[in-house]
Amino acid sequence: MSSDRPRTPTSDGDGPLARALRLSAATSVVGVIGYPISHSLSPLLHNTAFAEMGLDWVSVGFPVPPGQAARALIGARAMGIRGLSVTMPHKEEAAQASDRCTTEADRLHAVNCLINEEDGWLGDNTDGAGLLAALARSSRFDPSGQRCMVVGAGGAARAVIAALGDGGASEVIVVNRTAARGQSAAALAGPSGRVGTTAEASSCALVVNATPVGMDDVDSGSPVWPVDPGLLGPGQLVVDLVYHPPVTPWLAAAAGQGSITSNGLGMLVHQAALQIERWTGTTAPVDAMWAAVEGG
Ligand code: NAP
Repeated sequence: MSSDRPRTPTSDGDGPLARALRLSAATSVVGVIGYPISHSLSPLLHNTAFAEMGLDWVSVGFPVPPGQAARALIGARAMGIRGLSVTMPHKEEAAQASDRCTTEADRLHAVNCLINEEDGWLGDNTDGAGLLAALARSSRFDPSGQRCMVVGAGGAARAVIAALGDGGASEVIVVNRTAARGQSAAALAGPSGRVGTTAEASSCALVVNATPVGMDDVDSGSPVWPVDPGLLGPGQLVVDLVYHPPVTPWLAAAAGQGSITSNGLGMLVHQAALQIERWTGTTAPVDAMWAAVEGG
């Protein structure tokens, strides 16, 4: 019913409402598939970029239940959806359902970005490149020749491990609760990847936590850390892929040791920026995207 109501004139100039009311049958549509999806910041990031770029494109969230990604791709292609961002729990199913995959997505068996090409869906993965782009921008970090540690071996860790190997890290040390998963994740970095222990953290230029561990409040008793903050210090870049809260207790402890710290917001922004570039062929306005999620 509400969609049949006449539109109310707005006075917000070129604000989001004015822009939304300009959507038409010619507007290009992209979206994010996941479940649940209502919390996703991806549409905000994409729509900020489209507005800044002056493109008649729009991004929306599609709640696709588990096991339904392949069907969603068929429907989305039939409707001419230009691209899809893919989040939990669909990254692996999207890789299987893609008509083709980039080398990156093939290697990870995970797709976070789908591009609707003439011959079908091209599956890509921008997660690892997104984190490295974020660290280059915020801390001028270049993995080339550096010893790095990644704690975790899940989807996010695997993308980061592969990107560090590609980026020329001298060593990518992987630490994971389940040894076999750690071993197969370390192999993604090629010859520089190996399994190790957190005791080696003090010799690493970069330490990344890609697990949910380290969210405990320090005052709550004996906290469980991904890496003992006592092993971290000045000159090291310490990253927690979690971004809510913006400063996890582990990141705060690492900062207290003098390390440079960064949360996962940069990875989120830059993986979305790379998606925009894959879809539109144009450089994404990263500063505006950052401002949107930082509330600036
Ligand atoms: P995932 O595939 O489920 O992997 C989780 C990883 O954490 C596995 O290596 C798992 O070890 C380990 N783990 C879980 N609970 C643990 C515990 N209690 N003790 C020790 N290890 C534990 O998850 P994911 O998608 O990779 O996400 C990992 C983290 O990255 C999450 O915090 C997520 O919010 C964050 N993330 C951030 C972004 C971003 O854009 N910033 C994107 C994706 C994910 P086992 O192998 O032993 O199970």
